[in-house]
Amino acid sequence: MLTHGSSAWCLNPRFKMKRKLSSIQRPFLLHILGAYRTTPMAALQTILGIPQLHMQLQFEARFTTIYRLRIPLPPIITDIQPQDLEMKATGWSTHPSEHLKPNQISFEDGEAYIARKDIINIFTDGSKTEHGVEAAFCVSTNDTWAYQWSAKLNDNNTVFQAELTALHEAVIYASHLPNHNTSKIHVDNRASIMASSNSKSTNETARKIFKFLLTNPRIKVSWVKAHAGNTGNERADQLAKDATQHGQPSSHTKLPKPHIKGLLRKRMLDEWQTSWKNGDTGRKIFNIMPSVSLRPTIWIREDVIFFSQHGPFPAYLKRFHLSDSDYCSCGGFGTALHYATECIYTVSWHMRKPAPNFEQEWLKRVANNLVSRHKIRGIIKFISENRDLFRPP
Ligand SMILES: [Zn+2]
Repeated sequence: MLTHGSSAWCLNPRFKMKRKLSSIQRPFLLHILGAYRTTPMAALQTILGIPQLHMQLQFEARFTTIYRLRIPLPPIITDIQPQDLEMKATGWSTHPSEHLKPNQISFEDGEAYIARKDIINIFTDGSKTEHGVEAAFCVSTNDTWAYQWSAKLNDNNTVFQAELTALHEAVIYASHLPNHNTSKIHVDNRASIMASSNSKSTNETARKIFKFLLTNPRIKVSWVKAHAGNTGNERADQLAKDATQHGQPSSHTKLPKPHIKGLLRKRMLDEWQTSWKNGDTGRKIFNIMPSVSLRPTIWIREDVIFFSQHGPFPAYLKRFHLSDSDYCSCGGFGTALHYATECIYTVSWHMRKPAPNFEQEWLKRVANNLVSRHKIRGIIKFISENRDLFRPP
């Protein structure tokens, strides 16, 4: 609900808005972790892998601005222009009464290669490897290779886009053949045949293919099993792979929606990381987790209490004016470290005390060690259940 209309009011949120959103988010994060009310927000967010609410809304606002409103974002965020992005088509591409001939589309394999003189066989392929994204097709007439085409796409294009680009080019080629020729296009990707034979497909390339097929009933499209030893299919596959070395990027295939989403998400993470690094709260957690991530850590309530040191410790209670003394009933200074290493009431969970000035290193090591974490959970549970024992005399 909160993201509704965010492109109008949260594209560049001001301090007041950020504070308001933070106060909405705060109780949720506290309840998820069962943390103390005073635990710093920045620490809760990092532990849970949940960015500040204003950052999440800004992410949505940026996406809506470029993808739906088609307004460019500031160059500092991205230099991708709205027209570089693949649009989602809506509604019917043609009148519902217009449809393809029943024999124009086939999903059955087995008739992949028919050496009939009056049929021109075309094989398409699209692929995405570590070398790039490519599309290709080759044409066979009377058992000889008559024509071939291949192109390299942008590295951010998907394999589905490559398959559709190959089919689109093949359909254009076939539509220019003399009228008495029947041509059969063999495609090894069911999804692209399905999209291209559906007049309600949201993909613009698929819609273009559909219109070509509608006006050229002599062009047929058939599925062929990939890597099954079919010479035409193998040749198209090889052709596509070769295109990585020789082909020029073909600019008319636009960037897919997940690409811009991923890019804006990366942007959000960078901004979150900067604010976590430069922030002045939650530094005890920062020492243990210097990098933010959208994946939550496997911390439970007790871990948060111990490492944030916002919990039932005399030192904490004094700091927040909940107690007069910051000493433990044993006489020691009541910090989290005191209970983990020296308090006489928690001996069974003790760990070796860190050398002076090595506390930060010690905390980091303890946080990353399962046995130590288990001890810490025992200590926090014990203190929480026996508060009176720890109250200073
Ligand atoms: Zn003590």
